[in-house]
Amino acid sequence: MTGVFRIFGAPHRYIQGPDALDALGRVAAAFGPSPVVIADAFILERMGARVEANLRDAGLTPVILTFGGEITYPAIDALITSLCGVVPAIAIGIGGGKSLDAAKGLALKLGIDVITVPTIASNDSPTSASIAMYDDQHVMISVDRLKRSPEAVIVDTKLIAAAPALFLRAGIGDAISKKFEAEGCLAGHGITPFGTRPLITGIAIADACYRVLRAHSAAALQSVERGEVSDALEATVEAVILMSGLGFENGGLSLSHSLTRGLVKARGAKSAIHGQHVAWGVLVQLAAEGRPDAELVDMIAFHRSLDLATTLQQLGMDNATDAEIADIAEWTMTAPHLKNLPFTITAADVALAIHHVERLAA
Ligand SMILES: [Zn+2]
Repeated sequence: MTGVFRIFGAPHRYIQGPDALDALGRVAAAFGPSPVVIADAFILERMGARVEANLRDAGLTPVILTFGGEITYPAIDALITSLCGVVPAIAIGIGGGKSLDAAKGLALKLGIDVITVPTIASNDSPTSASIAMYDDQHVMISVDRLKRSPEAVIVDTKLIAAAPALFLRAGIGDAISKKFEAEGCLAGHGITPFGTRPLITGIAIADACYRVLRAHSAAALQSVERGEVSDALEATVEAVILMSGLGFENGGLSLSHSLTRGLVKARGAKSAIHGQHVAWGVLVQLAAEGRPDAELVDMIAFHRSLDLATTLQQLGMDNATDAEIADIAEWTMTAPHLKNLPFTITAADVALAIHHVERLAA
């Protein structure tokens, strides 16, 4: 195998804990005096003054931009235009997925680094170099990649604990799949988003992610229901944002995420959050891999204990017809990650696996 290299990529710093937001100024100061902060109006209203004071205390003069709406190329260009030709020292995205992706998009275009500050834990994108780009009709048109992973990821667990539990629940759903996707990728000929075969490290992290979720995610959701930070929440947030992100970027995606290509078009189910799509997708992947029913039933019980979707109905698609399931399977086949499975799969195989899960979970 001489000449065949493999890549491991990760953020330079990951900082997590209660009031981690207060580390932002110190981290950003290493890059120069004029960062740009991108956040939506809701976040700026709640914590804009705190963030600005923190940055100014670190000797910085931030430019603060409000971002709302979809991540499109014109929207990124509009953010850059509002900087009037000044290239900021670093881009800081604060909020849910859109503000972080806007900061990443701006950073990619200007050739600067990015710091992500997620205020919810609904998926692992804060850790990743990926940017989901959309058109004006809210249809995803590409997944662009930063040249460098985020410089820092800052996760304030007090903010995560204060957010609605549905977000952390979705983040858990998005993270459960990573072990199964990465292991299949390694077993076959799969490649990671870095374009190489996985190193063992990525698979080990995805496996640890799953074990942490099995041990701590139920208690973590309970502590978010109470609005409290706990050890279980800290462990689960680490699994959802850091381990899951490192696991997929260094381990690869496959069928669980490919199924989201079908679900985002499916009647009713299209409105469900990404992490619920992926949670259901894990079950279909296990069925497609031909795992024993006992293993599937165990995973269905785990999902139920967390209120994660086990049926199309729970995703919002009542009484799915055979034709509708066939459509989901066909749309799934358009995903590039499907070739990361260690076996070839057809739309008919995917549909059979969906029917099998529907029967078992009914
Ligand atoms: Zn995902």
